[in-house]
Amino acid sequence: MLLLEAGGTDVVDAVPHPGLSPTNIRSKRDWGYTAEANPAVLNRKMMLPTGKVVGGGSSINVMAWVRPQARTAGAGRPKSFSERKSGGREPLTSALG
Ligand SMILES: Cc1cc2nc3c(=O)[nH]c(=O)nc-3n(C[C@H](O)[C@H](O)[C@H](O)COP(=O)(O)OP(=O)(O)OC[C@H]3O[C@@H](n4cnc5c(N)ncnc54)[C@H](O)[C@@H]3O)c2cc1C
Repeated sequence: MLLLEAGGTDVVDAVPHPGLSPTNIRSKRDWGYTAEANPAVLNRKMMLPTGKVVGGGSSINVMAWVRPQARTAGAGRPKSFSERKSGGREPLTSALG
């Protein structure tokens, strides 16, 4: 089997470190595609990050910790004190409204 991948090495800090992953977008490790204007998103032309590096999209995708919405969190389990106090949201997101 022959695997061809355009782009360069994945041995750069931005590949293994989640905090740096946004710096891959529109870098030389991204093909740099942009979608057509779409009425579903107010006619914006959304970026379409696509990996151009060893590992492809897997090298530039993102790991993020995202708190679930209150209506989906905790189904079937007791809420913690901070969840009850904040209505299921983390204090930061509660503060943001
Ligand atoms: C920013 C970002 C966030 C993502 N987040 C998630 C997520 O949260 N959850 C999830 O499930 N998935 C996520 N994905 C998607 C996931 O990474 C991709 O679905 C997956 O990597 C696709 O794998 P693939 O092997 O099909 O293609 P790719 O990883 O795109 O690999 C294709 C390879 O072929 C190369 N190539 C393309 N054209 C040519 C050519 N003409 N000549 C030579 N080489 C070429 C490319 O450079 C690339 O190396 C994300 C992707 C990105 C970019």
